[in-house]
Amino acid sequence: MKRPHLSKIVTSFVQWFDAEYVDPNNATPVGDLDRINWVRCLPFVILHLGCLAVFWVGWSWLAVQTALALYVVRMFAITGIYHRYFSHRTFRTSRWAQFAFAILGASSVQRGPLWWAVNHRNHHRYSDTAADPHSPVLHGFWRSHAGWFMSTRHYKTDYRRISDFARFPELVWLNRFDKAVPAALAVALYLSGFWLERAAPSLGVTGLQLFVWGFVLSTTVLFHATASINSVAHLIGRRRYDTGDDSRNNFLLALLTLGEGWHNNHHQHMACTRQGFYWWEIDLTYYGLKLLSWTGLIWDLKPVPAKAYDPAEQLRSEPMASAL
Ligand SMILES: [Zn+2]
Ligand SMILES: [Zn+2]
Repeated sequence: MKRPHLSKIVTSFVQWFDAEYVDPNNATPVGDLDRINWVRCLPFVILHLGCLAVFWVGWSWLAVQTALALYVVRMFAITGIYHRYFSHRTFRTSRWAQFAFAILGASSVQRGPLWWAVNHRNHHRYSDTAADPHSPVLHGFWRSHAGWFMSTRHYKTDYRRISDFARFPELVWLNRFDKAVPAALAVALYLSGFWLERAAPSLGVTGLQLFVWGFVLSTTVLFHATASINSVAHLIGRRRYDTGDDSRNNFLLALLTLGEGWHNNHHQHMACTRQGFYWWEIDLTYYGLKLLSWTGLIWDLKPVPAKAYDPAEQLRSEPMASAL
């Protein structure tokens, strides 16, 4: 392994806080772009090691419930907001709600909304070809699951590919300082636990306990569940449509990711809000978005096109009567 130069380490360190920082004197050689940037992704490694701290801080019902609630809310933020809104624009909303949604998405610690959406758009554009950022078929499981975004090539946001949202300065700011919201969440969890330890000692909660369960563990599990769509959902499951790539429908992944497991459906019709096309294809994100549309906060949810149910389009035709 090549030893990184000190100034490169400093650059990576500054980039922990400012994702857009570039050192003009220290451009990464093209041949090194696909290498894993260990200094840059050290917080990600520490997050994983930090999960072991659950044995040290102990547990309480409130800590477990907080971890679970933050998993569900932030999974919805990733699937409903980063994916179905910023990546595919499958519904519309107001500018202020868009920013509030982006903040909620950023709390998932999966970088900024524009970074996430650009890479995802590239995934659809080049799905399971050499230019796909994460294809388990071509690049292997580990690379498609996590290695791809740990490499220097994929840290940058290519704003040209997301000009529709890059015209909003508040989103560009959030994308640049993508650690701001996660840091605020981590501090808020610690302080809440610290306060409860004194105000309600019977709960058995401490500041560190709420931080470790609610932030460290919940965020790590959330990451792996999300990443499994990039890795497992292109390897294991059934194919309803001939999408020209290896995307698959996987019931278990759909439960874990609140609906994203209907990945073959999604690759076939990526513009519709709903990814579970039949009543038995549970898609909790869609149900949540439908509820939100009744409040008037979001609108113009794109329906599943009628041709999705056409037996001629399906490799394995499903009964029409069951279609919603
Ligand atoms: Zn895919
Ligand atoms: Zn997509």
